[in-house]
Parts: sequence; C-alpha cells; structure tokens
Amino acid sequence: MPSSTASSLRDLHQLHQRAKALRDRLSSGPKTLAARKLALDARQKALEDARKALQDEKVAVKKHEHHLQSQQAKSDDLRGKLNAVKKNDEYKAIQNQLALDKSHMDKTEGEILEAMEKVDEKTRAVHEAEVEVKKLTDEVAALAKQIEEHAEAQKAQLVELEKAIVEAENVIDEDERDRYRRTVKQRGADALASVEGSACSGCFVTVTPQMMNHLINGDKLTFCLACGRMLYLAEEDHPNTRRS
Ligand SMILES: [Zn+2]
Repeated sequence: MPSSTASSLRDLHQLHQRAKALRDRLSSGPKTLAARKLALDARQKALEDARKALQDEKVAVKKHEHHLQSQQAKSDDLRGKLNAVKKNDEYKAIQNQLALDKSHMDKTEGEILEAMEKVDEKTRAVHEAEVEVKKLTDEVAALAKQIEEHAEAQKAQLVELEKAIVEAENVIDEDERDRYRRTVKQRGADALASVEGSACSGCFVTVTPQMMNHLINGDKLTFCLACGRMLYLAEEDHPNTRRS
C-alpha cells in the first residue's frame, strides 16, 4: 500500500501536533489556576497578619489609656492630700511629685497618640489587603470557570482529533504500524519530522540519497538514522509529491 506519501504523513504529523497543543492547553489551565490559588493563599495569609497587627495595636492603645487613667487617679489622690498638708516641705514634696507625674502623663499621652496613628495606618493596610484579596478571589473564580468551560470544548476537540489520527494512520502499511506506534508512544508529536533541504528538521542531520529516494517514492516509512523520527518531505521542497 504505497500511500504513506509526504502529504499524508504531513497531515498525520499536523494532527499529532494539534492534539499535543490541545493536551498542553488542557494541562496548563489547571497549573495556572493552581499558581493563582497559591498567590491568593499568600495574600489571605498577609491579610490575617495585617488584621492581627491591627488588633495588637488597638490593645496597645487600650493599655496606654489604662496606664494614663491610673496615673490620673494617682495624681488626683495626691492633689487631694495637698489641701490637708500643713508643713511647707511636705507641700513642696507633693508638688514636685505632681510635676513629675504630669511629665509622665504627658509621655503616656504621646504614646497614645502614636499608637492611634499606627491604628489608622494598620486599618488602611487591612483595607488594602481586603480589597486585594477580594480582587484575587474574583479572578481565581473567573479563571476556574473559564478553564472549566474551555476544558469541555478542548476535550471534545481532542476526542475528534484522536479519531482523525486513527483514520490518518491508515496511510501507514500494516507491517510498519508497530514501529510507527512505538515511535509515537516514545515521542508523541515529535515522532514525525519533515525533511527540509535534505536534512531532518528534527535533528538537522542530512538524510542519505537512498532515504531521499524512498521519501520521494513514498514506498515505505523512512526513519531518521540520527534521531529516529519518521520522515516526510517538506511541501516547499517537493511540491510534486503532494497528493491531490
Ligand atoms: Zn532526525
């Protein structure tokens, strides 16, 4: 059956290449999705950290406020004693203590202001992280939906292509089909290669004149001696071998 001509092998090769491209797309979608999900997980973790940091800062404000309250209570207490004091040196001592306490309270008030500024800052950080997480979550959901929708069509296309490949394989003689199958199993879409300018386009090694004759006659499968790919003539090199 001298039907393994250049054009039929070229068609077969194209079918294998299209099937490979489809399989690649089918597997790349879930990989992309997994990577986006990882990025989302990282952002969610960052959001949790930001929320925790905000919570800690709010606790710090409360702590400073409690501290200030106790300082104030102590001062009020002292000021009450001031009226009852008779001795001048005691009076002076309490006044000194009150002045010292006042400077401590000023310091605490400064710390409260500082902590409140940090609360504002961290509230903004949490908000930004929430916006980002929301955006990424929507993106991941849209991507998952898109991949799922495309996958259905791609799987259907792949089934069609696989059928077409089985049909196209009829151009290969029965007794050569085992070797063809082994080569396809090993190399997938790389099982075939065109010959361009007398060289295998897969490995660029020149084919022998005898192989060239077989290729032109299309009387048997020709395998590259260097890389083992099944060869066929490139269209532009031998347009006369093209089947109608
Ligand atoms: Zn080769």
